[in-house]
Formats: sequence, C-alpha cells, structure tokens
Amino acid sequence: MADTWLTDINHFLDSGGEIVTKPAPARALGEYFASIIMMASYPDPDYPPEYKVSCRRRPNRKPCQEEIAGWIEPESEDIYWICPKCQDKGRISNWKGTIWDLSDAEQLSH
Ligand SMILES: [Zn+2]
Repeated sequence: MADTWLTDINHFLDSGGEIVTKPAPARALGEYFASIIMMASYPDPDYPPEYKVSCRRRPNRKPCQEEIAGWIEPESEDIYWICPKCQDKGRISNWKGTIWDLSDAEQLSH
C-alpha cells in the first residue's frame, strides 16, 4: 500500500507566503503541492490544461507522469489528491488563503 502524504502547506512557505527557496528538495516539493492546490481549488471541474499536474514519482526508475486527480474534501476542506496509475496520494491542509487558492476566483470566470 502506498503511503499517504500529509502536508501542511505552511511548512513550505516563508514569512512572505512564498515557497521556501532552500533546501532545493523542499522547494521542489512545495512547488508540486502548490500546483496541486491550484488544480484542486480551480472553481470549475474542467480546469484549463495548464493547471494539469503530472505525477512526480518514478516507480522502478521510470517517470510515472500520470495526471494527478485532486479535489476538496467538503467536510475537512483539505485537498485530497491521488495518482490513478501508481496510487501515490496525499492530503494538503491549510491551503486556504494561500496565493494558490483559486476557490474565490469563481465570480471572475462567470
Ligand atoms: Zn503516479
């Protein structure tokens, strides 16, 4: 069974609300989770292709690159995400109000 990533996005942010720049692996992971937040919080389920997130895992050293599925769990309002192919999955908390939170942009698209 694959592990579930439990992510508090605040751990990847500096005092200005931007992703930490160091160490590099933290930055890479932070950018990955930030793109999942944008994709999952996009107000329309048919988010534009540029918001697509590709799986970053490399099972057996082969890049998975499957499209990640993400959604907001209504009860906890955490973001859940899963790779349908390799089953990598996780949960992101404290994403609301970050610069990647698109959930308030609804009125702009209608
Ligand atoms: Zn995958």
